[in-house]
Amino acid sequence: MSMPTIRHVRAFTVRGGGADYHDQAEGHWIDDHVSTPLARYPEYRQSRRSFGLDVLGTLVVEIEASDGTVGFAVTTGGEIGAFIVEKHLVRFLEGQWVTDIEKMWDLMYFGTQFYGRKGIVLNTISCVDLALWDLLGKVRKEPVFQLLGGPVRDELQFYATGARPDLAQKMGFIGGKMPLQHGPAEGEEGLRKNLDRLADMRNRVGDDFWLMYDCWMSLDLRYATRFAHLAQESGLKWIEEALSPDDYWGYAELRRKMPPAMWVTTGEHEATRWGFRMLLEMGCCDMIQPDVGWCGGITELIKISALADAHDALVVPHGSSVYSYHFVVTRHNSPFAEFLMMAPKADEIVPMFTPLLLDEPLPVNGRMKVPDTPGFGVRLNPACTLHRPYEH
Ligand SMILES: [Mg+2]
Repeated sequence: MSMPTIRHVRAFTVRGGGADYHDQAEGHWIDDHVSTPLARYPEYRQSRRSFGLDVLGTLVVEIEASDGTVGFAVTTGGEIGAFIVEKHLVRFLEGQWVTDIEKMWDLMYFGTQFYGRKGIVLNTISCVDLALWDLLGKVRKEPVFQLLGGPVRDELQFYATGARPDLAQKMGFIGGKMPLQHGPAEGEEGLRKNLDRLADMRNRVGDDFWLMYDCWMSLDLRYATRFAHLAQESGLKWIEEALSPDDYWGYAELRRKMPPAMWVTTGEHEATRWGFRMLLEMGCCDMIQPDVGWCGGITELIKISALADAHDALVVPHGSSVYSYHFVVTRHNSPFAEFLMMAPKADEIVPMFTPLLLDEPLPVNGRMKVPDTPGFGVRLNPACTLHRPYEH
């Protein structure tokens, strides 16, 4: 069989939602007094956009093969990501066989190591990697989950992230994760509000529905430990990303001090097998949450997931839409998935990367059979305006 090679790679930016789901208009729950590390400064407490959470925008990478097949992917990365792709990464991609993803990942990672390793460079490498998997799936006319070894279950089940777990329960989800709203700088009053909100939600959903809090790196070890013990009464299932992603020692200590049934979870701002090796070997958490568009892509997630399996840790990717669905359905140690409720009031189910993708599958009654269309099975919405800031 003659395999096509990579003919051309292009990078675009898009504004207004999409893969940069923080890029939202006024009045969205995702930007309504969410606790962050900057909440210690009152002027940055009400809105995460006030300190620039939406500055990046979405990055789109398109990869065209010699037979005319085009694969693409999206992530958070915007113009900086587009620069890295067009000015640097294309040299490692164009001319290669579409099958040689492992080699291209290796070239991209080590070719950018002098300024990369984490953050925006890994977001960008992830986007290229996902576009390569999409392309290979389309060339072979197979969904990515088949390329990854095939499904281990018939369908996915989801918990919902958003401001209204009580509504998510009615929509059939297995649990609801709320953003924590008040950080340590808001003192005892903020702590009480956090606990009251959880207790109120527990009253609404009953005993068996999972409830979780996402702390978005905003707590310190003392606050997180105390909060976990106080939240035990309301049956908090896990406390997510309580500390700075650089504080591996704090996470290890927090996990040792947890109430017995409560999990420590983290990892959405971690990247690569080496970053996750720190979390796993130091015993930082019960479940890791790599974002498939940030951690290094599917190629790296395969390695991260195997490492987690050997450490008896679950792998439930952060958000990531189709890039998560195609992976989670193929792994025993990924027993459920996250769905971000991107409706401004979290009161209806809309596609996670709305409005950027067409055919983005949605959970029905909290469940989803991953479509078996080639690649990741999604298309770019022609109604979204792509901008190509750099060319080569
Ligand atoms: Mg999170």
